[in-house]
Amino acid sequence: MSKVSVVRSRDKPTDQEVYGLVKKSIDLLGGIQKYVKPGDTVALKPNVVTGEGAGPGVTTDKRVVAAMIKLSNEAGASRVMVVEGAGYFTKTSRALELSGIKALAEENGAEIVDVDNSPIVKVEVPDPLLIDVVEVSKEFMDADVRINMPVMKTHDQLSVTLGVKNLKGVLPRYMKRNFHKIGVVKGILDLNKAVPVDLTVLDAIVAMEGLGPSFGPKVELNTIIASADIYALDRIASRIMGFTEAELDYLVEAAANGIIDLGQEPEVVGEPVSSYTYRFERAPTGMEFAEGVTVISDGACSACHGTIHSVFYDLEQMKKMGEIRELVIVVGSNAKVPKGLTNKPVIMGICQERNQHKGCYAVGCPPNNDKMRAAISEACGLD
Ligand code: SF4
Repeated sequence: MSKVSVVRSRDKPTDQEVYGLVKKSIDLLGGIQKYVKPGDTVALKPNVVTGEGAGPGVTTDKRVVAAMIKLSNEAGASRVMVVEGAGYFTKTSRALELSGIKALAEENGAEIVDVDNSPIVKVEVPDPLLIDVVEVSKEFMDADVRINMPVMKTHDQLSVTLGVKNLKGVLPRYMKRNFHKIGVVKGILDLNKAVPVDLTVLDAIVAMEGLGPSFGPKVELNTIIASADIYALDRIASRIMGFTEAELDYLVEAAANGIIDLGQEPEVVGEPVSSYTYRFERAPTGMEFAEGVTVISDGACSACHGTIHSVFYDLEQMKKMGEIRELVIVVGSNAKVPKGLTNKPVIMGICQERNQHKGCYAVGCPPNNDKMRAAISEACGLD
C-alpha cells in the first residue's frame, strides 16, 4: 500500500518551521536517508511557472526548496541541482531569477539547471499511451535521485496541478507546446512513465484556487504532503482540495490504462484528510466567458486560456464588458479563423502568427494582458 504523509502547522509557519514540516513529512515515510544515499546526485524539480507574480501559491515556496536542499546535503548528497523549464511568458533563465530560485540555490550551494539551455536526452516511454519517446532534461534524467516539488493549485485544463503535471517542467519548451497540441492528459501520463520520480514533496503552505495555475486567489493550508508514489500523492492532495478522483481526467485515464488502481486506498500518515473541510473553488474551464464572446480554441495551451480568463477579469473591473459585442478570439495552433465574420476577430499568440492579417493580432506566447486588451479594444472599438 502506498504511503502519503500529510503534515500541517496550525499557524502560518516561520522559516524554521517550514524546514521542520518538510523534514517531518519525509520522516513519516522513513526519513531522507531512505531516498538520498551518501554521494548521490539529487535533482529537485520545483514549480517556477513564469517567475512573474512569483510567490506563495504560484511558485514553490523558496523555503520548501531550501529545506529540501538542506535535507539532501544532510543525507550526504554529492551534488544537488534545482532543475526547471519555465512556462510561457518568460525565458526560463529570467523566470529562475524573478522567482528568487536562482539566488536561493546559489546561497544554499545547489546548482541551477535551466532546461531550455542544457542538454536534452530522448527517453523511450514504456507501453506508451500517446508518445513513444519524450525529450527531457539530461541532468534530471541522469540524477541518482529525482525529487518533484509542485505547488497545490487548481488548473484550467486538468482541474488540478499537483505532482503528475508538475513534471512537465523537465520538458524543453517545444515539447511542452506539443503536449497541448496532441493531448496533455495522456502526454503527462507517458512522461511520468518515462521519468519516474523517487519522491514528491508538495508545497501546500499556500495553495491556489479558482483561476489557477497563475491568477487565482490564495488558500493558506500550512501543509506539506509527501509520497514516493506520485499518483497516491495526487489522489490524497486532490481530496484535500475537495475534488473526487472521478473529476480528474488524468486519474481516470491512469486507472483506465492500469497505471493506478483506484480500488487500492493509499495509507495516509500524519494529519487526516477529514481535517480539511474547505472546498477549493474550481478553475473556470469553459470557453464561455461572457455574452457575445466566442473563443475558438484548438490545440491551445493552458497559459493562453488563463490569459483570456484574466483579461476578461480585468475588463470587468474596468467596467468595459458591457461594450464587448460579437467578439471572436482564435487561439491555439490548430484553430481556424471562421469565414464571413462581421467584426474582425482577435488572433491570439505566436502559434496563430500565420493568421495575423485576418484580425487584430495579439503577439506573445502567450500574449500578456496588455496586448490582449489592445487587440480586444481594436476589435470592439473600445476607448
Ligand atoms: S501562443 Fe500558442 S503556443 Fe503560445 S501559449 Fe498560446 S496557445 Fe500555446
